[in-house]
Amino acid sequence: MSNRKPALATRLAQALRYLDADTGAVIPPIQPVATYARDEAYQPRKPYWYRRDGNETTAHAEAIIAQLEDAAEALLFSSGMSAASAVIDAMAAGAHVVVPEVMYHGVLDRFQNAAAKKRLEVTYYPAGDLAAMAGAMRPGQTRLVWAETPNNPYWEVTDIAAAAAIAHGAGALLLTDCTGTAPCATRALEFGADISFHSATKYLNGHSDITAGVLSMRETGDFWDDLILTRKLQGTVLQSFDAWLLIRGMRTLFLRYERATENALTFARHFEGHQALEAVLYPGLPSHPGHEIAMRQTRGGFGGMLSVITTGTERTAIDVVRACEVFYPATSLGGVESLVEHRKTVSGEGFPVHPRLLRLSIGIEDVADLIADFEQALERALAP
Ligand code: PLP
Repeated sequence: MSNRKPALATRLAQALRYLDADTGAVIPPIQPVATYARDEAYQPRKPYWYRRDGNETTAHAEAIIAQLEDAAEALLFSSGMSAASAVIDAMAAGAHVVVPEVMYHGVLDRFQNAAAKKRLEVTYYPAGDLAAMAGAMRPGQTRLVWAETPNNPYWEVTDIAAAAAIAHGAGALLLTDCTGTAPCATRALEFGADISFHSATKYLNGHSDITAGVLSMRETGDFWDDLILTRKLQGTVLQSFDAWLLIRGMRTLFLRYERATENALTFARHFEGHQALEAVLYPGLPSHPGHEIAMRQTRGGFGGMLSVITTGTERTAIDVVRACEVFYPATSLGGVESLVEHRKTVSGEGFPVHPRLLRLSIGIEDVADLIADFEQALERALAP
């Protein structure tokens, strides 16, 4: 028997070499169940005895992600937001945390809410700015540093290893949200993050048919146990059918991500310097301020997320979205289909985002169709 360890892409394609011992089926079953009978000694047979603990299907998806992240454990939630909220809830009352001043608006809202209710003390830093992050730290008091990289919607890149050194130097944990570059591209724990968070709704699932969130941790311990308990008592564990769809989606993660990266690079290069655009923001372009770090850190490719700032007015930007015929005018990212959104409309009036910024999630379609579609949309929106 060969002692060669299969590559991650192989392990994912085979859902960790799943094989049903009874039937030989190569696809895992779905286990929809709310309760479990105990054994003869009246003990639970597995680490779950009720639906809110999880089940075999969810545990299988977690095992796959733990391998992908090289994590001790992974925990799946019913959405990215419920996973992020569990971390916020698990913070001790009055804890000091350091978070980006602009990032995914839902997570930012939860931190702002916790600060307004005096549950947490929050200091904000400009995304990607390590000097500001270091300046925000209170050694011995700061419990968590949150870094979204690349960061919505300008895609600032944070050097994870440097951020980990800053966080650890003050006795804090570093949590990274690398949703924009799936774990097949950014292995955050390897660079020193303590917790890797992903909205698994995005690249991990890849088909825009579930919401899911995952926390993967380098080392387990009290904080981890608290997260498990929070998930159990809030009932936010990922449901069986969704876990099954996630397992199916992850089989093609490497393939989808590679194609999305290839398409996004071609798309970004085509539109950089376009007369109808003021800027193309994509870490894969050498003109992006985070390009050098992204080259080191996102080894599996820059992914499919980019933003553009149109010329004209806010109305022009919205009209570009309305004129697209191949891109869907929808929110989200990381699916096989390409999406475009006017970020200010989606984030809400008070959110600090450029009024002419469009966020694009480049999918796996023929890139010539995507380029032609965006060209015609720009032309129509800017027509006098
Ligand atoms: N973090 C980032 C970077 C996101 O883009 C999103 C969703 O768009 C989330 C977190 C929240 O995840 P979910 O929509 O799965 O709740």
